[in-house]
Amino acid sequence: MSANNSTAPPISVLVYGSVIDKFNIYKQDYKQNESCGILIGTHSIDESKITITFATEPDCNDKRSRFSFKIKSNKHNKILQNRFSKSGNREVYLGTWHTHPEDHPNPSKCDTDDWLKQYSINRNLFESMLFVIVGIKTNKWFLVNDNGIFILDSNLIYHEKEERV
Ligand SMILES: [Zn+2]
Repeated sequence: MSANNSTAPPISVLVYGSVIDKFNIYKQDYKQNESCGILIGTHSIDESKITITFATEPDCNDKRSRFSFKIKSNKHNKILQNRFSKSGNREVYLGTWHTHPEDHPNPSKCDTDDWLKQYSINRNLFESMLFVIVGIKTNKWFLVNDNGIFILDSNLIYHEKEERV
C-alpha cells in the first residue's frame, strides 16, 4: 500500500522538543545502523490531538543493521508500562520511529506492512497511530487509521518544550 496525503484526517500532532533531540542523536549518516524505538504520548479526549511526550531509544537487545531493525528488547515495553502508570494511564503506545540512511526518507514495503500490522493489533484502543521515519535532512510523519496510511502535513506537527504534567 502506498501512502497518500489527499484526505489526511484533521489531526494535530505535538512533539516535545526532547523527542526531536533524541531523533537528532540517532539520525543516520551513511555508516550507522538503523535505529528504532517506540513513541509514547497522549490522545486528547476527542482524539483530534496527539502529543508525543517520549521516544524510547535503541537497546543492545534490539536487532539493528544498516537497512533494517527489529524491536526485540523488552526495555521499550517496561518504559511504556512505567510511564502509563505514572501518568494515571494517560500516556500510551502511539507508534514507532526509525531511521533511514536517506536525506528525505520514504517507507519501504516492510515499513508499511509493519505499520498496518501494528495498527490492526492496537486499533481497538485508539482511532489512529503515528509512525515517523527519521531521515538525514528531514523526518517524515505518517498516520495510520481505518482508511490506510497518510503522510502528515508538517504544518500539523508542532514542537513544544517539555512541560511538567
Ligand atoms: Zn524503514
